[in-house]
Amino acid sequence: MSLRIHCLLAFLLVAAVGCGPAAQSAAEPPAPAGPPAAASAPALPSGAVPAGEDPRIHEIVAAASPERIERDIRRLEEFGTRHTFSDTLSATRGIGAARRWIHAELEGVSRDCGGCLEVGYVSDILPGGTHPRIPDDVNIVNVVAIQRGSASPERFLIIQGHLDSRATDVMDAEIDAPGANDNASGTAAVMEAARVLSRYEFDATIVYAALSGEEQGLFGGEILAEHALAEGWDVQAVLNNDIIGNTRGITGLADNTTMRVFAPGIRPDADEAELRRYLYSGGELDTPSRQLGRYVVRTAERYLPTLEAQLIYRLDRFGRGSDHTPFFLRGFPAVRLTETHEDYTRQHQDVRVEDGIEYGDVADAVDFEYTARMTALNLAALASLAWAPSTPREVTVAGAVQPHTTLRWERGADRDLAGYRIYWREPTSATWDHSRWVGDVNEYVLENVVIDNHFFGVAAVSRGGHESLVVFPRPGR
Ligand SMILES: [Zn+2]
Repeated sequence: MSLRIHCLLAFLLVAAVGCGPAAQSAAEPPAPAGPPAAASAPALPSGAVPAGEDPRIHEIVAAASPERIERDIRRLEEFGTRHTFSDTLSATRGIGAARRWIHAELEGVSRDCGGCLEVGYVSDILPGGTHPRIPDDVNIVNVVAIQRGSASPERFLIIQGHLDSRATDVMDAEIDAPGANDNASGTAAVMEAARVLSRYEFDATIVYAALSGEEQGLFGGEILAEHALAEGWDVQAVLNNDIIGNTRGITGLADNTTMRVFAPGIRPDADEAELRRYLYSGGELDTPSRQLGRYVVRTAERYLPTLEAQLIYRLDRFGRGSDHTPFFLRGFPAVRLTETHEDYTRQHQDVRVEDGIEYGDVADAVDFEYTARMTALNLAALASLAWAPSTPREVTVAGAVQPHTTLRWERGADRDLAGYRIYWREPTSATWDHSRWVGDVNEYVLENVVIDNHFFGVAAVSRGGHESLVVFPRPGR
């Protein structure tokens, strides 16, 4: 798929005509509780190991509200269809009304935090005929809110979900396409993330993005990923939420205790030097996206004991895709978060009853409590990364024909940097099973750990104990 960008990407920091603040009703769930956090963690006594747990993240996890998420999903369903080619002028039906409502909600969140969010649109016009699912010119419009970091604003973390929907015929822009689970659920997660996290101040910048054009060919993701490149964003994580609210699968199995993280491997445009490096020194299981996947798994273990995250070494479900793909293809760490048990009678289907089976992606089939926990996992991972130092750079490993393994890296300049933690594991293990806090150094010799029999990584740690993604080292001297 090729995307020809034929006009300037525009980030419009103005509200669209006719999108005033959302009406506040008496039934509206309360705003997230909890005071804004202090900017930096207290100083650590010399030689101490930073704690691995932050009470503020327990607060953040508890703040994700099933009631607000249900309200958002039902409100998005009320637009009838959010098909990319649906009505953009109506105030009540179609993708235009839906994106203006999301924009207004995020503006409301920003007002509540003293203007902490920059709310706007990142859009581009796709010319008709450039893709089988783009027959006519269409403006693909993403709603984006940016919460700038206080210490390292150049470092970007993105939470996203697509707001567009479809029915059985992917080209039918008129028929109802409620898209409650696919993907009002992911869109609601993005909006709830903005509500909860905007109460805190973070080191890194967080981007909340409701994307469009996904069902036609991942176009909103393409546009935002290109925007990130053009703006020079140092994107250190993309959490893509797509289909996160169903707990009763097509097989009849009901399970609200697990979820999946799809984490891709080698990029298809890897050059020969990169492929040779995988061959001779490993790393094909340790792409940045897989480090992000492991981070989500570890975050769930620490902060969400009732949600088991399953790491899957794939780009996505078999033969299917979502908006993390354009980011992954551009070299950004990107994963897809999704439910474990899908119900295909609820996806991409006209709403109908046939042979006694209810088809259609309606809100009544969504498990809002589960969606809230999926959202909470996003929040915990984002907060932890946003309070962590930047991902270590220039990480190398050496130790061939020696009993010891030596890791080196460039010391970061982060305000809250406490030091580094080295990780290692047996090559067949999917998770970082061994680790050691090594302090504020830029080199460490791991004695009597043989390089041939293990994989290694390095993470930066803040004084508050927040860790960056682990970096898999290149071969060094
Ligand atoms: Zn989807």
